[in-house]
Amino acid sequence: MTVSGETVADIPALGLATRSWNMLVDGEWVPAASGRRFDVLDPGTGEVIASVPEGDQEDAQRAVAAARRAFDERRWTSIPAYERAQILWRVADLVEAHGERLAALESLNQGMPYRLALSGTVAQVARCFRYYAGWADKLSGRSAELTTGGRDYHTYTMREPVGVAALIVPWNAPLSMAAWKLAPALAAGCCCILKPAEETPLTALVLAELLVEAGVPSGVVNVVTGYGHTAGAALAAHDDVDKVAFTGSTEVGKLIVRAATGNLKKVTLELGGKSPVVVLDDADVDKAIPGAAAAIFSNAGQVCTAGSRLFIHERLYREVVAGVSEIARTLRVGYCTDPRSEMGPLISEKQRSRVLGYIQAGISDGAKVAVGGGASEVGFFVEPTVLVDADQSMQPVREEIFGPVVAAIPFTDDDDIAAQANDSVYGLAGSVWTRDVNRAHDMARRLRVGRVGINVHGLPDVTMPTGGYKQSGWGRELGPEGLEGYLETKSVFTSI
Ligand code: NAD
Repeated sequence: MTVSGETVADIPALGLATRSWNMLVDGEWVPAASGRRFDVLDPGTGEVIASVPEGDQEDAQRAVAAARRAFDERRWTSIPAYERAQILWRVADLVEAHGERLAALESLNQGMPYRLALSGTVAQVARCFRYYAGWADKLSGRSAELTTGGRDYHTYTMREPVGVAALIVPWNAPLSMAAWKLAPALAAGCCCILKPAEETPLTALVLAELLVEAGVPSGVVNVVTGYGHTAGAALAAHDDVDKVAFTGSTEVGKLIVRAATGNLKKVTLELGGKSPVVVLDDADVDKAIPGAAAAIFSNAGQVCTAGSRLFIHERLYREVVAGVSEIARTLRVGYCTDPRSEMGPLISEKQRSRVLGYIQAGISDGAKVAVGGGASEVGFFVEPTVLVDADQSMQPVREEIFGPVVAAIPFTDDDDIAAQANDSVYGLAGSVWTRDVNRAHDMARRLRVGRVGINVHGLPDVTMPTGGYKQSGWGRELGPEGLEGYLETKSVFTSI
């Protein structure tokens, strides 16, 4: 396959990456207690670009102790809510001021095209902090007249922070995922330990620097870089952690739930998906074709809501498959050094082999490759791939691939297609493409997913909740709903 841009890592972001990185614990930038470090790679070249501390159980303990102290000493909640809001607003300003640096590092470390990192991720992260800054001083309760002796009591509810929150995030959108958790957690008044994915710790550490610069007190936000089975597992099991907010695979989500039983900590989960894109027989193909392609090839398919099952009415099947295949063939796949790149690499060699394995499994199950299927010699790129002659029984149609591979499946009637689209253990997102508003809303109602697009797929926005039905998760992130997981409700009764 052809990959555009330079393979040599002679780009400004590399200078940023090769600095000395440490973790943030109790306001100090520290190495791991063990002194160990691990390498961070550029997925475009497979080369080492940085090393970070390998935090483990002991570092997790220290970070939890720091967050606990900060919470119990009210270092964050004693600051008036209006002033905390201003600090969060300042974080957003700093994110924008450092936008190019953040975008370059995100692109270098995660592989997403620089353009997407700057205009998508960085802009979205700033909006996320501003949105939740707005909520920080609006978390009020209510009053009620009791059914028993109501006039004899004055009652009210209070919204209080859940306490110490461990925020565990994946590698596919590291900066956004960190912001989607940190901003509501801080707006709610929690103290946090952020654990970025081992593959992508760099922008999380820069974001932590900006939080400190904005005025977040020491211990309120701690960052532990380390592996999931050591640092992550220690956070999930820790008795002084009141809440775990996890984004990652469904498999690890189940481990988190088990680990949380010790102290019955609160858990919210944003997990995997196998989202359907449903093109009805009256769809506007000029919209549906680029929409379906963007749904799967954006960020090389490493998106939880990726539209990886493309159901097309048989009347439009050939036309839509041809259109999506043409986009796949002409998409500019490039290194982070190419500003015109439209799709980057997968995160690791492991992920690349996994994705190629799914393509092979599809072929063994009887599917055909209409376009793609290849991989790069250098770095972890896989070609945008369209599988045809696919059906719901095939492994790549049932399991989450997390790569740029879409399976096209023809259908004949609407009733059957809703059932097929729902035939998945996942229920994260979906989209329907039609000119008929009634059919659109009927399908939106039938799909058992947390987010539905009508003539659009995806569209995460901080004002609207996102999350999963079925094994795609518990709870919601973003929007006012995204605050709920970080809040407790207290009822107060006053005898008059
Ligand atoms: P992963 O589950 O392997 O890892 C996610 C995080 O959990 C990492 O920080 C990892 O270190 C940590 N971890 C691993 N084992 C752990 C353990 N035993 N205890 C505690 N923490 C542990 O996921 P990934 O491969 O990094 O990310 C891809 C997955 O994330 C996909 O399944 C994708 O669908 C999902 N995802 C979901 C959403 C959503 O909003 N629903 C968003 C992005 C990604």
